[in-house]
Amino acid sequence: MNIASVIVDVPAKQTDKPFDYEIPEKWIGAIVPGMRVIVPFGPRRVQGFVIGLKDHSEFESLREIQEPMDLVPVLNSELLGLGNWLTEKTLSFKISAYQAMLPAALKAKYNKKVKLAQGASIEDLPESLRHYFEGDKAIGWEDAVKGGLVPVLQKQAAAGTLEVLYEVRERLGKKHIKYIVPLLPPEGLKAKYEEVSGRAAKQKELLEFFIGNPEPIEAKKLTNELGYSQSAVKSLVDRGCLGEKELEVYRDPYEDRHFPKTAPLKLTAAQKAAISPVKAAISEGRHEVFLLYGVTGSGKTEIYLQSIQDVIEKGKEAIVLVPEISLTPQMVERFKGRFGAEVAVLHSGLSAGEKYDEWRKIQRREVKVAVGARSAIFAPFENLGIIIIDEEHETSYKQEDMPRYHARDAAIERGRNHACPIILGSATPSLESFARAQKGVYSLLSLPDRMNNQPMPEVAIIDMREEMRSGNRSMFSRKLFEKIEDRLGKKEQIVLFLNKRGHSSFVMCRDCGYVMGCPHCDISLTYHRRNEQMKCHYCGYETHVPLQCPECLSDHIRYFGTGTQKVEEELGKLLPHARVVRMDMDTTGRKGSHERLLKEFSEGRADILLGTQMIAKGLDFPNITLVGVLSADTMLHIPDFRSAEKTFQLLTQVSGRAGRHELPGEVVIQTYTPEHYSIELAGSQNYDVFYQREMMSRKVHKYPPFYYLALVTVSHGQLMKAVSVTEQITAFLRARVSEDAVVLGPVASPIPRINDRYRYQCLVKYKREPSLPENLKQVIDRYQKEEGASGLQVSVDINPFLLM
Ligand code: ADP
Ligand code: ZN
Ligand code: ZN
Repeated sequence: MNIASVIVDVPAKQTDKPFDYEIPEKWIGAIVPGMRVIVPFGPRRVQGFVIGLKDHSEFESLREIQEPMDLVPVLNSELLGLGNWLTEKTLSFKISAYQAMLPAALKAKYNKKVKLAQGASIEDLPESLRHYFEGDKAIGWEDAVKGGLVPVLQKQAAAGTLEVLYEVRERLGKKHIKYIVPLLPPEGLKAKYEEVSGRAAKQKELLEFFIGNPEPIEAKKLTNELGYSQSAVKSLVDRGCLGEKELEVYRDPYEDRHFPKTAPLKLTAAQKAAISPVKAAISEGRHEVFLLYGVTGSGKTEIYLQSIQDVIEKGKEAIVLVPEISLTPQMVERFKGRFGAEVAVLHSGLSAGEKYDEWRKIQRREVKVAVGARSAIFAPFENLGIIIIDEEHETSYKQEDMPRYHARDAAIERGRNHACPIILGSATPSLESFARAQKGVYSLLSLPDRMNNQPMPEVAIIDMREEMRSGNRSMFSRKLFEKIEDRLGKKEQIVLFLNKRGHSSFVMCRDCGYVMGCPHCDISLTYHRRNEQMKCHYCGYETHVPLQCPECLSDHIRYFGTGTQKVEEELGKLLPHARVVRMDMDTTGRKGSHERLLKEFSEGRADILLGTQMIAKGLDFPNITLVGVLSADTMLHIPDFRSAEKTFQLLTQVSGRAGRHELPGEVVIQTYTPEHYSIELAGSQNYDVFYQREMMSRKVHKYPPFYYLALVTVSHGQLMKAVSVTEQITAFLRARVSEDAVVLGPVASPIPRINDRYRYQCLVKYKREPSLPENLKQVIDRYQKEEGASGLQVSVDINPFLLM
């Protein structure tokens, strides 16, 4: 096997296939599938993934692999296969699929070294290698390659004695902590204890400590927490009794937090009924997709935890996906509390280095459970026993860049590969999933009631037009305001929710109605109070807030819309004694601030939690008895066939924050369209009726789950070019689909211009079109040639979640 098939890192149609390279003699056996290598490609050197080995190539003279980049494969064989699947399903390049599965640290510019693995000792190495690694030394990767050491080092890496370290340049690699270690055995320390003069009482104390505790201890802990004197440490180090040593620690983002250990709860009858088919699938090692449909607070998470318990007992592993915004410390705590150090957490709040550390724990089999956002679906486990997707309806599970995959599909594919069950959990399942459960494709598990049968909160829907008519111009209806005052009086807590999406804080002229838009995009500019700037969220254009209307020169031009800042100010005026915590993009930008604000609220140091989407999910505080939704309909007006579904889901989620414990909860929803079924039915928390209504509408309008969608978006600097290419594509596709399919276009995208590029779309609605992927591929190939030259861009999104 001296020939490697390599996917090179040149994302283009012509290079989207394996290239054969000869493996130089010295690396035969050392280069295996799943490793990255550097290969010559044309005049360049590029990175590539080895996907297979073979003895013969159909090509005559092959170029040689220049050098390996890894000692152990970064992708296992299952993930290599998953890459192919991703490529087919999303029409992306193979290289993009492989790159998407790796943590960023492996993609960034890094320094690479080979080092003694943690826990290994120098004696574990063959004599000939020891001198390279003595005293914490490391070999630089380039030296290892030049010295022809790779195959020998690789053997050690496979045995776990050596490892490769990636040092992300901007934040250097691993974190080291200084430890103090006794250099003498206890008897030796005792002898020293006698020697030390009576006046050095501090040194005696310290020696006494180490006689009783001969383990290394963190230097900071010794002095700061246990109160031993720093100078005594130094003196004893000088005397040769103690040593200082830097030990590597994982950068554990949750290191400052203590997670109290929790035990499995005794399941209720409903939980038992729901978990038993899952347990059966786990024990039989059978792939099956379960839709766990249970209202918020019905005990879904406990079912996840106990299923994972079974999986771990079988010696297998689990992946839990949670939407980014609900990957709150509270959620993490529940998994860490049950499984402790067996859990790795992957989310976007971590630095590249931290994520890499968590990923390595998985790769080295040090953990059994990965909890994370979308991309955690690629956690490099080899023996998966279950995959759980919480809040399965969340749109953030769909990636919007290449490869445009949905984590649910990837999970089901991995579930097939590993013959393991999948749980999709939600209080408001996506229409697609619920329809599949109705058809028996997924197995439906229901938890209809909340724990301890607490009633669902009482919901009042307030028509804000009525409020306006009766002279209330405030952003709070009279009812909501009364209730806020009431809770403040009772020292109970309040959550106020403002739906930010689709709710730009724009600047408008009160006289002529002029709204300030971006000169490069067809979208209004968003007002940022901090620096009094107007900003375009699509292209980054920024300008000052005008003092005069550019249209009519009136100076009644001002900031509109109700951002969280504005609500906070209003609360400050109306209820100056209320303590408000505000959570939005602005207040949670810095690392740890999210957690800090929640802590403030949970410890009762605030009365009102005011925020956007980010507070809609996962919060579980006993003292919340009132939830107010300030404007329920902002999401309804987004041009998207899922807008009713999203509105229903969001309102139901938010309402679920109230009254989860002993105190009963109440919800007030303010809206300008109280008659809309998504709002009305969210008010009565009636998913089943909502499902029926929405399915009817989807059927009539030929949308999922009755039809699949494929969206082609064309953009170009010239309007006519964008239109004419979209026209060609529409005609091409129309001629190649069956009569059941609908091809719409060309139509302007809901945002028809971004960054001075015009955007047109063609939308295909279809039921069964086996040749559509091939035809879409042809479209991409055909226009890709033009791309570089004229600035034309053509992208295809299969099962799009953003129709923009
Ligand atoms: P969900 O995930 O459906 O929102 P949770 O799992 O968070 O529901 O459960 C809601 C509350 O009920 C939590 O405080 C949880 O600890 C508690 N709980 C869940 N299952 C049980 C059980 N079997 N016995 C007692 N309490 C439970
Ligand atoms: Zn004006
Ligand atoms: Zn813009």
